[in-house]
Parts: sequence; C-alpha cells; structure tokens
Amino acid sequence: MNTGARPAIDDAGLRERFAGELLRPEDAGYDAARAIWNGAIDRRPGLIARCSGTADVIAAVRFARERNLLVAVRGGGHNVAGTAVCDGGLVIDLSAMKGIRVDPAAGRAWAQPGVLWGELDHETQAFGLATTGGVVTHTGISGLTLGGGIGWLHRKHGLTVDNLLSADVVTADGRLLMASEDENPDLFWGLRGGGGNFGIVTSFEYRLHPVGPTVLAGPIFFSLDDAPKVIRFYRDFIASVPDEYMSVLNLRRAPAVPFIPEELHGEPVITVVSFFAGSIEAGEELVRPLRRVATPLVDLLEPKPYVMHQSMFNPTVPHGWHYYWKSQELAELTDGVVEVLLEHTRRITSPLSYTIIFQLGGAMSRVEEDATACSHRGLGHNVNVNSVWTPDDRDAEAHIAWARDFHADLERHGPGAVYVNFLGDEGHDRVVAAYGEAKYERLVALKRKYDPQNAFRLNQNINPEG
Ligand code: FAD
Repeated sequence: MNTGARPAIDDAGLRERFAGELLRPEDAGYDAARAIWNGAIDRRPGLIARCSGTADVIAAVRFARERNLLVAVRGGGHNVAGTAVCDGGLVIDLSAMKGIRVDPAAGRAWAQPGVLWGELDHETQAFGLATTGGVVTHTGISGLTLGGGIGWLHRKHGLTVDNLLSADVVTADGRLLMASEDENPDLFWGLRGGGGNFGIVTSFEYRLHPVGPTVLAGPIFFSLDDAPKVIRFYRDFIASVPDEYMSVLNLRRAPAVPFIPEELHGEPVITVVSFFAGSIEAGEELVRPLRRVATPLVDLLEPKPYVMHQSMFNPTVPHGWHYYWKSQELAELTDGVVEVLLEHTRRITSPLSYTIIFQLGGAMSRVEEDATACSHRGLGHNVNVNSVWTPDDRDAEAHIAWARDFHADLERHGPGAVYVNFLGDEGHDRVVAAYGEAKYERLVALKRKYDPQNAFRLNQNINPEG
C-alpha cells in the first residue's frame, strides 16, 4: 500500500470502456508504474491508465477531457524532465503497447508507442536493417522520435524524424488522425520535432536501411591529460570524414563497467567513441590516425554487432539513479570551448557524471531547416552536461550546480540553441531556444489548431496563447 498517495481519480466512466490496466494509488502495481527512468522525479498521479491499444488511448483522452483532468503521456518514461508522470492527474501510459511489424522487402517498420529502441533494433536487425535511434537502448522510441532523434545513424541516414513516414495520432478531442506527407501534412510537420504537443501517437512508421549487423564501432579511452591534443586533433579529423562516420566525445571519470579494465575505474578520461556505417576495412583505414593521437589507455574500437554497440552506454545510465541535464548546441569546438570543457571536467563533483558531445552534420544537415519542426540542423555539436548521482548521495545540490556552472560558461561560446529532447524543466525561453522564434510561432499556430485548450501541456510546451 502506498502511504503518500493522493486520492485516486474516480475511474467510473472509464473502466467500462477500457481494456488495459487502471492503476490507482492503493493498487499493488502503482509505485512501480509511477516510477520513471530519472529517480529524482517522484510524482503521484491520481490514476494511471495503462493502455492496451489505440481504443484505450481514445477512451482515456475523452475521459480526461470530460473531467478536465491534468494529463501526462508516458512512452518509454526516459525524459529527464519527468513529463511522463504528474502529481494528481491522469497518466496515459503507453508502455504496454509493444507491437512491432517489419516489412524487410519494403524497408519499413511499424511500431507502437511503448516500444524501446532495443526492442525495435532487435526486430529490424534480424534482417540487417535499422533506422536512426538513440544511443541508449532502454530509451523509448516515442519521445525520442517526436523530438527529432539523434544517434549513430543520423549522419548517414538523417534524424529519426527524417525516417518517419507516417504516424497515427489521437488528438486532444479524441479523434484518430493519420499524419504523413499526404494526409494532414501540417500535423506531420509538427510531429517531427514538436514533441508530444499535438496528440498521442499510437503507431510510428519508419524507413529502414541496411546496417551491419557487424559494424566497426567502440570507444578509445585516453587520459584526460591528453584531452587538449585529442580534442584538437578530433575537430580537424571530423571536418573531412564521410557521412558513414559518426562519433561522440565523452569526458568523465571512467565508469566501473565490465568492459573497462578495473584499474581505470574512476580515472579522469576523454573517450572518443566511433561508429562507422560502411565496410569494416574502410572504417579501419579511416580511424587509423585516431588511434595514434596519444597513447590509448584502452582501445575498444573493433568490429561488433550493431545491437551491442547500441547498448554500450546502458550500464552507465540505469533506471532509478538521479539525473540533471544542461544541454546546448555549438557550431564548433573552438579553443575557448575546449578550455571550458577541460576546466569543468576537472572539477566534476560526482564520479557518475559526464559530458557527452555528439557529432552532428551529414545527412541531417542537408534537410531544409523548415522541412520539419526540428531546428538547428546546421550546427556541428550537441553538448549534454549530465549530472548523475545515486539516491543515497547527499550532495545533489553540488552536482546540479556543477552542471549549471559548466553550461553557463559554455553558453558564452554558442548561439543559444538547444535540442528539445535534452531539455529539463527549464521554462518557456529555453523551449523557444529549441526552435528559434519564427518556428516557434509556426508551432503555436499549429497548437491552436490541434490542441487549443493545451490538453497536452506536460511536455516542452508550445503554449497556444503564444
Ligand atoms: P517519455 O518520458 O515517456 O516521453 C517524453 C514526452 O514525450 C512525454 O512527456 C510526452 O509529452 C511525449 N510522448 C511520449 N510518448 C508519446 C506519444 N506516443 N505520443 C505523444 N507524445 C508522447 N535522444 C536522442 O535523440 N538521442 C539519443 O541518443 C538519446 N539518448 C538518451 C539517453 C538517455 C539515457 C536518456 C534518458 C535520454 C536520451 N535521449 C536521446 C533523449 C530522449 O530522446 C528523450 O528523453 C525522450 O523524451 C525519451 O522518450 P521516451 O518515450 O522514453 O520518454
């Protein structure tokens, strides 16, 4: 029995038209159902409606509308801001909607909104296929897709939204609409970057590409003392790499995970994590100079199954730890940026915290800025400063301050742009910064059309009031 529970929402009027599970605060599964990836978020909804299919989603949306309930929508439950769960309102929980269908000949996959990236990869890789997905496989396809979607394949095949072909959407008034380039194209435009603002997606159709199943990929660890020369070499190196090559930089203390030798655990490191979406031989040739820039502490860049590489970061970001992120996008890794990166990495307050810098560009940057709701396609790097600590760590404030100070110093070197999926609970101006003012205005007009009452407001909100 949950002791701190809020009164349940009376589910009369929903129960008889709902096939899935309805979880109230007194129910046994309630605490597990309200927990999300970020353990720092502790919210107690009045009712969790775990949908079994689209009919349940429609019933829940109509019920919420009739009762004027606060609504949170949960896909994979990974958003760092914790918008998948609310205090007192109704959580429309899609996590049990796990259907996946792959048509290998057509290079298409259809997936329901409770699917996680590892589950989709598993089905598509059976045919040597994949679409652009996130770099942690327990992340949900839903939120990631609706915010844009970066990962190992965005330079070769575009963002996840660039591979979204259609979506089924339950709108705020409880209708089911199809969205694609041909049907409701304005809605389709907004779904590709506008997050959960315009309705609840109950099916995603993706374009698939041949990938692997064996790829050349993995991290090379260098001492943080070598970071200045590693980053300077790296920025010249990536200036001329083909779209097949994608990488991230990681600055942190080496995590205590099985694939890193024990003697390195806790040591300050910079890691260049490479991925090559072409032949192993061409990849080996390309990365040769990277291996020589300094003496690697450990070199794990080698041929491996794509799904193994996809899940490499999983143990460093488990469910239930506490997370606080500050993120921004930068044009270049200038000397000023490098100085800030090194200074704040040396001052890191938690052995679990890290900074991850995604290489952008390639195919994602060749899609017109106005083609989808996603913005900042021309920038070179996405920097995500992640404070991480365990629930029993009493220094949360210091860890949060570290990320904030780091971010503030970096901000002086950037255009003030941010990727919407890496935003915490940071307020209106940061949401506008994710889109730019002109695009934000276009999104407001769309919000007025599809959700004028702002029923879907627990997200990076496009306010219909402007
Ligand atoms: P949820 O918290 O369930 O959903 C987030 C929000 O999306 C909800 O509040 C709701 O507003 C909306 N939403 C969810 N499902 C639906 C739906 N079906 N219909 C309408 N609205 C919906 N992003 C990247 O691009 N690339 C990465 O490599 C990447 N790596 C990550 C690694 C980790 C460990 C984490 C925590 C996040 C990562 N992200 C990455 C960010 C990720 O894209 C967002 O956290 C995203 O919101 C996760 O989606 P979700 O469905 O799991 O989240």
